[in-house]
Amino acid sequence: MKNICFVVAMQAEAQPFIDRYGVTEVPDFFAPLPCKLYQVQLVHTTLNVVLNGQQHGSDLVGCEAASVATMAAIQRLHPDIIINSGTCGAFKSNGAAIGDVFIGNAVMFHDRRVPGDDAWGTQALGNYPVYAGAVKIANDLGFKLGKVTTGSSLDMQPCDLQIIQENHGELKDMEGAAVAFVCSLFSVPVLFIKSVTDLCDSGAETFEEFSRNLAMASQAVSDANAKVIDYLAEG
Ligand code: SAH
Repeated sequence: MKNICFVVAMQAEAQPFIDRYGVTEVPDFFAPLPCKLYQVQLVHTTLNVVLNGQQHGSDLVGCEAASVATMAAIQRLHPDIIINSGTCGAFKSNGAAIGDVFIGNAVMFHDRRVPGDDAWGTQALGNYPVYAGAVKIANDLGFKLGKVTTGSSLDMQPCDLQIIQENHGELKDMEGAAVAFVCSLFSVPVLFIKSVTDLCDSGAETFEEFSRNLAMASQAVSDANAKVIDYLAEG
């Protein structure tokens, strides 16, 4: 692939990756939108890293900012693939551990409770397509595979857990399905690379566990991103 674009929510998640590749910011590329572009030309590939940006003095996590960033990235950069890389919660009951790296093999929302017929329910959950090569990448590079489920909150309410369990969700984040929704509109393939900062069924306080493991998980996802770039650049 000649043009790879990462969409990342938090600066802290992207920093090890930015440092590793020496990508440089292209100032005001998306102005007046808050998202930020970092770019570098590799041997075979243009590497773009788009961050959601900031508002109210903190990184814009969540679906709205991820949708805006993804749409702007696709329209302005015309990537061959969007890769949503970042951190997530997971479940120790599924065998997940802090720092594990997963490739997403499916993606849906877990907090859109819309009553109605099958059509409304189907739309609420999303279940968007993911890149057809995702399973092969995970197998070839030795990453775990899991279903990404997305909601607008870091905590998990019982109704969230119910939908996650009913749909066999494994990786809980705040952006994945929004990124996939936009990619589905433009028929751009989307790949998820997620590293586990916290275990939703560990009994620990999620924000505390997330904060404690953020730097380590961001390093793990950066290493995984590099392997995937090498893999895709050859293909
Ligand atoms: N207040 C925090 C904000 C982090 S929100 C801070 O200042 O650092 C959590 C981010 O990590 C989101 O972008 C989300 O995609 C991901 N994430 C990690 N663990 C998560 C979990 N258990 N549930 C939902 N999102 C999670």
